[in-house]
Amino acid sequence: MNEKGIISTPMSQPDITEGDIDLVAQVLRSGRLSIGAYIEEFEKRVRDYVGTRYAVAVASGTAGLHLCMRLAGVKEGSEVVTSPFSFVASANCILYEHGTPVFVDIDEDSFNIDADAIDAAVNDRTVAILPIHVFGRPARMDQICRTADRRGLAVIEDACEAIGAEFDGRKVGAFGRASVFAFYPNKQMTTGEGGIVTTDDPQWDRELRALRNHGRAGDEWLQHHQLGFNYRLNELSAALGLSQISRLDDLLDRRAAVAAAYNDRLARIVSVKPLSAAANTTRMSWFVYIVRLDARLSRDNIASRLAERGIPTRNYFPPIHLQPYFAERYGYQRGQFPVTERVAASTLALPFHTNMPEQAVDHVCRALQMAIDQETRRSA
Ligand SMILES: *Cc1c(COP(=O)(O)O)cnc(C)c1O
Repeated sequence: MNEKGIISTPMSQPDITEGDIDLVAQVLRSGRLSIGAYIEEFEKRVRDYVGTRYAVAVASGTAGLHLCMRLAGVKEGSEVVTSPFSFVASANCILYEHGTPVFVDIDEDSFNIDADAIDAAVNDRTVAILPIHVFGRPARMDQICRTADRRGLAVIEDACEAIGAEFDGRKVGAFGRASVFAFYPNKQMTTGEGGIVTTDDPQWDRELRALRNHGRAGDEWLQHHQLGFNYRLNELSAALGLSQISRLDDLLDRRAAVAAAYNDRLARIVSVKPLSAAANTTRMSWFVYIVRLDARLSRDNIASRLAERGIPTRNYFPPIHLQPYFAERYGYQRGQFPVTERVAASTLALPFHTNMPEQAVDHVCRALQMAIDQETRRSA
């Protein structure tokens, strides 16, 4: 609360402790700022947490997705089946390798790719399926992996919003040929900028390490065996990640408690539907707090009314196929992915972070109730 008694509610906020700061300061004091012990330790902790044999830290979630597209063999003429309801990076990574994203509409309850519709989108140009665990709710990994096995395709999980989430008791990030997590400051845990790829495949592990490091294949520093990138994660970020992942389960529990506080208050507001756990989700990892508004309400008007009261919101996500350069390049039009478009037009992300106090949740919920009342009166 500030001096005027106004509760300020940031959209999101990382949880940074003195312990985090101390570890990052140790890196600075050590003088070794890249390719050191922290990245190795961080990778070890992530692979133990997720339950895969390997983890390769990279400069961002997007960088990790890009490398996975490269290793899945995406090239000019390849197709990758994915969802149009996501952050744009999950489709951009296909374009980086000159492949074509083939969108499949989402399931209205989970907001994840409709697993029943994937098979019909696969043809002999398809090389991979790229499901996204949207908002921390796992996609139908049982069905997706079955379809991929039957059609001989790689599954790459975009788990950037879902670290710690479990499907049928197993952590996301452990299902695909490879999976990607992201650590931008609004995610459940952060490294500032950063990401990591998990896999059980020793060859992918080797290739990922080479590709993130200018295509170097071993100890020979100036031997470049292939065209690579500089997608390394620096030591300061790795130290922050190490400190954060040791606290991850606590971070996730506290986020779940904030979500429960929201759920409790919003249960009383008709015309607002909170997210429920999707099918087979044994643990949800709360990335953002999303509500679905009754179709008769204008989401944008509600958002501006909240903004007038100093409450930030986001319209997660505008459909990818309607982003100008996608629409222009592939000729997409409104109406092609009706569920995605309907969900995208009626969802709103409310302020949400690990340390959000209950009084801030109350404040947002009261403002939301008022905004809805005003909108309902206006349109009556
Ligand atoms: C955050 C995010 C990414 C990419 O993360 P960056 O680290 O910002 O590159 C990719 N996909 C999804 C679904 C995300 O939410």
